[in-house]
Amino acid sequence: MKIEENVPLSSLTTFRTGGPARFLISVEKKEELPQAVAFSREQNLPLVPIGHGSNMLPPDDGLPVALLKYLPNSISETEKDGKTFVIAEAGAVWDALVSYAVSRGLWGIENLASIPGTTGAAVVQNIGAYGAVIGDTLHSVEVFDTHEEKFRTFSREECEFGYRTSIFKTNADRYVIVSVMLALSSKGMPNLQYRDLTVYFEKKPIEPTLVRVRDAVAEIRTSKFPPLDTYGTAGSFFLNPIFTATSVKAIREKYPMMPVYELPEGGVKVPLAWIFDQILHAKGRREGGAFIWEKQPLVIAGEKNATTRDVLVLAEGIVKDFFAETGIKISPEVRVFGKDKEKFS
Ligand SMILES: Cc1cc2nc3c(=O)[nH]c(=O)nc-3n(C[C@H](O)[C@H](O)[C@H](O)COP(=O)(O)OP(=O)(O)OC[C@H]3O[C@@H](n4cnc5c(N)ncnc54)[C@H](O)[C@@H]3O)c2cc1C
Repeated sequence: MKIEENVPLSSLTTFRTGGPARFLISVEKKEELPQAVAFSREQNLPLVPIGHGSNMLPPDDGLPVALLKYLPNSISETEKDGKTFVIAEAGAVWDALVSYAVSRGLWGIENLASIPGTTGAAVVQNIGAYGAVIGDTLHSVEVFDTHEEKFRTFSREECEFGYRTSIFKTNADRYVIVSVMLALSSKGMPNLQYRDLTVYFEKKPIEPTLVRVRDAVAEIRTSKFPPLDTYGTAGSFFLNPIFTATSVKAIREKYPMMPVYELPEGGVKVPLAWIFDQILHAKGRREGGAFIWEKQPLVIAGEKNATTRDVLVLAEGIVKDFFAETGIKISPEVRVFGKDKEKFS
């Protein structure tokens, strides 16, 4: 276990903003987790797990926390009752896990290719894209419960997955994800229901093999998101509001042209991107070094000089205008902290 002091968060997050974290604890094996918890208690600081920081926006004046980076990253496989289970430690790069599955001919997570970050965080957020979520294939998760100070295993049902959420997100101060077990299939079918993918394979009349679906997703994503080597970003900044079939009626009446999507996990998703584009004309909005990404209005990108403050001021302005137009309060998908969090509550 390694402990560093006053580590700049700008070096730990993909927005590349944020002041120092009081401590950064890097853990190399799961047996060290009780020690890491004890250290944060001695320091009287919250323990905050961090992966690749691709879904975090820490304050410019830093975070008085003990950050925990869980480094183990092995990927392995086991067969049970004719099914293939892939087990990845939480520090494994998510896209490396997708590549592993594809190289082994295993279907189930190819639509989630190229999402930045670690496997542990992927579960916290129930990452989703192109008509799939990690919750679809998740079998179980091993965690360290910092309250009870013991390792526990959660079944998929116990993870309480929802749209970009799980029990690990709603209890962010409690669980450290250690490893993840996915149930994948060698007899899968391509999931091309998402419009961009349907169009892709209509335009290119080739058989949608596992490799091709993964490559198509990667190609489509490259055309939508800012390149991380040039801009800071955390992908989509806001959560799409979720409605019930009844509550969506009023907003559909106001904007009859607006598309809506039924979510596999329940509820109706109203596409913010459409409202940002068609109603708020948000493209091109800017604050300091932060601006709305031209090709995808839900994405906030930052130039090299961008600060967390720039991103927050831009985001708050959009939340306010969105509310004035629709009566709906939207909230960030990206994790914000302390007083910044209150701004969106
Ligand atoms: C360009 C871009 C595109 C993106 N596209 C998508 C997309 O299509 N779909 C999508 O869902 N997301 C997307 N994201 C968001 C992001 O990639 C995911 O949320 C990802 O899972 C975050 O992984 P991370 O390791 O960077 O997590 P971090 O940002 O480091 O952490 C995210 C949260 O998880 C917690 N956490 C991290 N590790 C652990 C652990 N081991 N145990 C417990 N808690 C932990 C953290 O405390 C934090 O609350 C995108 C981001 C970028 C930059």
